[in-house]
Amino acid sequence: MISTHKESRSEENREFPEQTYLHFASEALLIDNNSLKRETARDAILGRVLGYIRDGWPQDIEIKDIKPYFHRQKELYEELGCVMWGHRVVVPSICREKLLAELHEAHMGITKTKQFARSYVWWPGIDEAVEAVCRTCSVCARVADAPERHEPRPWLWPERPWSRLHLDFLGPIGGATYLVTVDAHSKWVEVTAMSCISAKNLISKLREMWARFGLPRQIVSDNGPPFTSQEFQLFLKDNGIEHIFSAPYHPASNGAAENAVGMSKRVIKKPLVQGVNIDIALNRFLLVYRNTEHCTTGVSPAKLLQGRSLRTRLDCLKPELQPRVRREQARQARAAGGSRRQFAPGDRVWYRDYRNSVVK
Ligand SMILES: [Zn+2]
Repeated sequence: MISTHKESRSEENREFPEQTYLHFASEALLIDNNSLKRETARDAILGRVLGYIRDGWPQDIEIKDIKPYFHRQKELYEELGCVMWGHRVVVPSICREKLLAELHEAHMGITKTKQFARSYVWWPGIDEAVEAVCRTCSVCARVADAPERHEPRPWLWPERPWSRLHLDFLGPIGGATYLVTVDAHSKWVEVTAMSCISAKNLISKLREMWARFGLPRQIVSDNGPPFTSQEFQLFLKDNGIEHIFSAPYHPASNGAAENAVGMSKRVIKKPLVQGVNIDIALNRFLLVYRNTEHCTTGVSPAKLLQGRSLRTRLDCLKPELQPRVRREQARQARAAGGSRRQFAPGDRVWYRDYRNSVVK
């Protein structure tokens, strides 16, 4: 059944080349909570660990592979057939390779991939395994940047999200030009495809973005044509936005935008190398990037800008509590002995008349 589903999906791919990220995501996660549960029970080590969690741990343990679990015994617990360490699912060994591929799917660097992994999964040696996957990834190696030459000039970190935005253009690359926007507070990045770089188009894209997140207090850009145009200047003035120009011939003074442009460029180059859809790759990357702890702030852009984590495919790994809560609620309702009211035509009933009531 799975294979027929995949076949029909790939036919759709051919018919609709510009399908959305969500279409893509629905088929690509290779492991879910059920397979983790099944493989946990089959796993020689995790099977034993599960036994110890249920029946109690021995005084000491001789088996080398169980030692990492033995040392964490107080923090390990069972959740719907999976071994959990804190909020992370412990992954049985047979699933680890697939999961590493999933973790590195967005082709983020070693540090970010590790941070991403830490919010979902754990097993002994996961950090080394993640490093190895990132180091040996041929897609990453082909688009790696030359080391940085200069120190970016430090900007004051604004206290509020979405108050200072750094803007820059990227491209043309792969036949398109992109507007890259970074929020200096949260490090949230927006990458917007532009059909042409005119003041009108820039204003229209920013209006859309600012309708979503609000107006910034300041923007930082270079003094290229659409940014310096009268039309754009008037748009900023009308919205009470201050415009700071980065120093001419020193793109590094708009360091935040420059970094985001570099990052987006690498993200766009990878699908070009792999021959996959740029929009899909870009959006998948942005979702993971926005949900991953940023090295400067120590918090994910999503948490700082939206005050919440975004749901990603890896959330499917976590044991789902909702079905259990629903079952429990249904049981309580039955126990309370309430009955559903049923009426037949012609029954005499009381009713409340809302027509003349005072609305409070
Ligand atoms: Zn990679």
